[in-house]
Amino acid sequence: MRIAIAGFSDETCTFCKDLTTVERFESGTIRGHAIIEKNRGIPTYVNGYLKVLEAEGAEIVPIVHASKGPGGFSSWLVPECFEKYANEIRDGLKAAGPVDGVLLALHGAMAAANAVRPEAEIVRRARQAVGKDVPIMVTLDLHANEDEELAEAADAVFILKTYPHVDSEEIGMKAAECMVKTVRGEVRPYTACRRPGIVSASIYQASDQHPMKDIYDRCREWEKVPGVICASVAPGYAYADVIDIGMSIFVVTNDDPELAEKVAQDLNDLAWSLRESFTEPLPDAKEATRLAMKYVSQGLRPVIIADGADRIGDSTHMLKELLAQGAKNWVIPCITDPKAAEELKKTAKVGDEVTLTVGGWYDEFSGTPVEITGTVEYMGCPEYTLVGPMGKGSKVKEGFVARINLGDNRHVVVAERMRGANDSAGLSCVGLDYNDLDIIVLKDRVHHRAFWDQVAKADIRTSVPGQGPADLSQLHYNNAPYDAYPIGRKWTGI
Ligand SMILES: [Zn+2]
Repeated sequence: MRIAIAGFSDETCTFCKDLTTVERFESGTIRGHAIIEKNRGIPTYVNGYLKVLEAEGAEIVPIVHASKGPGGFSSWLVPECFEKYANEIRDGLKAAGPVDGVLLALHGAMAAANAVRPEAEIVRRARQAVGKDVPIMVTLDLHANEDEELAEAADAVFILKTYPHVDSEEIGMKAAECMVKTVRGEVRPYTACRRPGIVSASIYQASDQHPMKDIYDRCREWEKVPGVICASVAPGYAYADVIDIGMSIFVVTNDDPELAEKVAQDLNDLAWSLRESFTEPLPDAKEATRLAMKYVSQGLRPVIIADGADRIGDSTHMLKELLAQGAKNWVIPCITDPKAAEELKKTAKVGDEVTLTVGGWYDEFSGTPVEITGTVEYMGCPEYTLVGPMGKGSKVKEGFVARINLGDNRHVVVAERMRGANDSAGLSCVGLDYNDLDIIVLKDRVHHRAFWDQVAKADIRTSVPGQGPADLSQLHYNNAPYDAYPIGRKWTGI
């Protein structure tokens, strides 16, 4: 059995300004056997494919795995970028000779300037190489915006059920198992698709909390029914202004259209009944800071504040509030500011006292720049290994960062490009121990909880301005469907 594997994935934030270029992708793209080597032992979709295919004794044909290099979010893929990698998958498959199946690790939230439904188009390009009889199966992130076109293009669709995403390998295995059985002729996948018409901010999509927990519990119940291979619900990605924005449901059965449609409709109806739970009001920067300080005063520490809206890392809303309200023992592990970072790199050394203006430069959501004075305690380009459940073992190489201690154990990490601390390695690499801190402000929504839930005493979700806000009414959509709840014209009246 010869199975080709390839990937082309992006979560495109069309409310960011900079277009996504070939250059951004080339720095993160791997080809041929490097795909196998780089994924082995890391909990990814591809490692899941490998586990099953190697156990089966299948010949694995790695083509290309295209994803963006480090640097954070960016806007629409330019046409050359989409074409380059979509065609590379097609041409790589042609050059590889006959295969029995193709597994594609996609994301689902790509927005490409020249492809209305990029993931369906990637599958069609692969199809051009292998023909209509070779099964093509797709794995997706749950931040996927998809519709029937993908169900039609692919033979089966498999989507994560955890946010924080800790089941990528499991979903990769599920797809590969379905592929192996399909090639052997033991199953014949049928995929049903539904779109309930719900658009939700990522911060409301945690898989262990209402409403997504209710939905995933129902998926798992259905998966116990004989004949149901996989029941997936992607809540979608609200920060790509695309026509298929919002939740999508894909149910794969073994040659049982009636069952697949019934399960998909049931999940559709359940999701629709829960739609209002995706818009619960959250505290703003001021209130989040007040709450965090209250928890600390009660002995609860460390407290995480999740500023999920800031996709660039330059936002200063939380920094201003921490300073204004006199909080102590805190860190903001990322204020992205390439100019300030460059200046520090050129003129400062560890131990220097510096005064500089940071952040608030990207757009109208970023807040205004803030002047800080403190002692430089770390400078450099950190390299480390992730230790949390998400991506455990993955190597991280960062751009230049400088940690400045403002006194009272208050720290700002000024970074050349967006960085994070979704586990403790992002702090220890700049010389900080979370045990010494009361408040940790992360520019993240849910992923950090995979690690920080184990040590933090509280996790405060916020509604702060940004390119990816909790309150979707802050954004102006051009492409959303008329009836997409709650952003479409039917609901907003605008
Ligand atoms: Zn995701």
